[in-house]
Amino acid sequence: MVVLKTTRELAAMRDAGRISARALRLAGEAVEPGVSTAEIDRIVRRYIEGEGATPSFLGYSGFPASACISVNEVVIHGIPHKGQILREGDIVSIDVGALYEGFHGDNAWTFACGDVSKEAQALMDATRESLFEGINAARPGNRVGDIGSAVQRYVEARGYSVVRDFVGHGVGAKLHEEPSVPNYGTPGRGVRLLPGMTLAIEPMINQGVHQVETLADGWSVVTADGKLSAHFEHSIAITPDGPVILTLPD
Ligand code: MG
Repeated sequence: MVVLKTTRELAAMRDAGRISARALRLAGEAVEPGVSTAEIDRIVRRYIEGEGATPSFLGYSGFPASACISVNEVVIHGIPHKGQILREGDIVSIDVGALYEGFHGDNAWTFACGDVSKEAQALMDATRESLFEGINAARPGNRVGDIGSAVQRYVEARGYSVVRDFVGHGVGAKLHEEPSVPNYGTPGRGVRLLPGMTLAIEPMINQGVHQVETLADGWSVVTADGKLSAHFEHSIAITPDGPVILTLPD
């Protein structure tokens, strides 16, 4: 069932979104050569807990950290650890959620570690832009397929591929709610978008093939061909006037 939020609930979701966004911004500021992914995870946890919130991912289905940190060919769900030291040229996808006053915010961004190749930068740019293409399609009267097709059209025109095995989702009192929000689709198809719906739109875009595999750690999802992947996400609300981003830091 798709849960529609009241105006008051949307205000609460903005608070959760703001905490999530600020945690993500801090995480991004910490990305530099020589830093461990465990240190970035600590920064995220300390900030979220300092705000009186709870990291959404910590313990979620047993996930052992507060942030998912996915480097280079890791698409999503990378587990931070102290032995993983970031290097110049890495692209670092960080996914952060916070539960505050009963609602979750969920957002992700791919950060450059120092100078990255122009191919890596182009993938990041296209993935970020595709997120905003998807958000722009999240309007009352449109359908979920309009969001996915907007993302897909944008990135495939640039030679990239859309991960199929993982998708965006409704977000609210639960981290993952209905509907699923694929980053591919057919315009005019799928669940109708209504004011009060809150969605996490999160393109996961690969440089090479769309296929992915899960590593033996049970979490880390990597590209099947070992090429790069990028991931950008905002939680948004659908309002009569169009989409509103909930995961903004200010
Ligand atoms: Mg998400």
